[in-house]
Amino acid sequence: MRLINKKDNQIEFQTEMNGSLANAIRRFVNQIPILAIEDVEISKNDSPLYDETIAHRLGLIPLKAGKGKEAKLNLKARGKGIILAKELEGNAEVVYGETPITFLKKGEELNIVATAKFGKGVEHSKFSPGFIFYRDLVKINIDKNCPTEIINKCPKKILRVEGKEVVVKNEEECDICEACVKFCRKKGKNLISINPTKNIRITVESFGQLSVDDIFKKAIDALKQDLLVVAKKIK
Ligand code: SF4
Repeated sequence: MRLINKKDNQIEFQTEMNGSLANAIRRFVNQIPILAIEDVEISKNDSPLYDETIAHRLGLIPLKAGKGKEAKLNLKARGKGIILAKELEGNAEVVYGETPITFLKKGEELNIVATAKFGKGVEHSKFSPGFIFYRDLVKINIDKNCPTEIINKCPKKILRVEGKEVVVKNEEECDICEACVKFCRKKGKNLISINPTKNIRITVESFGQLSVDDIFKKAIDALKQDLLVVAKKIK
């Protein structure tokens, strides 16, 4: 495994892995239990947004879970200005406090009691902790007779001319668009071949409720649990 890039909310790495396994792990991100606001009681809402719109916005605010199976959050605001997610108080931590909820004019009020519960991304996207995507890495073989104007056909600009021949630099940046292959075919020749390797590049992005490491590990755990259930049923 080779680390390519790591930030707070994103990790990119390269590894030898079968594409179907990577795809299974990717799909199981939405089987990780995540806390999000599910029930909302709005006792006062003078803002220009409907109750339903505010409830919908609250549901999409990423939360870090404390202890317990659910969390209670209160919001009591009186104008004037933008009401931010950090004004929610309770036993769950708001990840991005500067997220706007609504706007109040002078003297207007907003009173909310919200209940956050655990759910899975397969039920609703508000329970998604982030996402995983991947792409196959390839080996590109270029015939020495390949016309040099082909370098302008590559959207990734990874084809170069060295001496009189076309070569590829940063092969791992190829997104397999096949523009180069099609260009050669139009000329009636197969001078470039793009061949699969055993390696893939995986990117994990977090919406903030869990770290990228946890998302990857928990997706694998969820996949393992599912396979155990299948194995038991087969027995
Ligand atoms: S497949 Fe697309 S990205 Fe890859 S080398 Fe050819 S033109 Fe460039």
